[in-house]
Amino acid sequence: MARTHGHGNPKWTRDETVLALDLYFDLTPHIPSEGDKRVQELSGLLRRFPHHALASRKESFRNPAGVAFKLQNIRQVATGKGLDNVSEMDRLVWEELGGDPMRTKQLSNLTKVGISAAESLPESFESEPEFPEGRLVTELHNRRERDPRIRQRLLAARRRNGPLSCDMCSTNPNSKNGLLEDAMFEAHHLVPLSRSGARITKLGDVVLLCANCHRLLHRAITVKKRWLSVDEARNVSGLI
Ligand SMILES: [Zn+2]
Ligand SMILES: [Zn+2]
Repeated sequence: MARTHGHGNPKWTRDETVLALDLYFDLTPHIPSEGDKRVQELSGLLRRFPHHALASRKESFRNPAGVAFKLQNIRQVATGKGLDNVSEMDRLVWEELGGDPMRTKQLSNLTKVGISAAESLPESFESEPEFPEGRLVTELHNRRERDPRIRQRLLAARRRNGPLSCDMCSTNPNSKNGLLEDAMFEAHHLVPLSRSGARITKLGDVVLLCANCHRLLHRAITVKKRWLSVDEARNVSGLI
């Protein structure tokens, strides 16, 4: 069988697979080829997905041939015949929605609305104020802080020492539900990228802050035009 889904393109996400399943339900038992108008429409839609902007520059990305191939994969999952090319995501989506075309249609319509909405929104709602070190360091700092691995390591280390609390305002989560209690916390790097230089973050370089204090601290750094310790930021922001 021709392999048209490869070429180093990113794996199909759940949203995309749901859109394909919706089309499959509309068209089954007939599975159209890449020349079909509805296949081409779905291809065009998938290429507009906000987080696929970079991948969409490749011509092979979610092209009509790839969409037609995905419909074949879904038929394989649905019928249980010839499962060689079926992905884990195909299986999961079929397990969840294979018996529910109505729900699939609802999800698919919601995603379609979401794609249009994302296109009409500005790239970010509010551009973060810039640190004194400039835009690039600010952006890298923020990106590094969003790295879930360092946050998870920090949370695990803090949990070993007792209940979680914010290093700036000492606030505790109200929730005793383990799945929810860490939702309000973020990791803050004490040094800007340019000064630390290290590629690997050491736990000693990060503090645990509630989202509110983290925002305040970043703002205080930009207002004062210099890096502030947690103690300094607490004074500046009038928390004590
Ligand atoms: Zn706090
Ligand atoms: Zn921070």
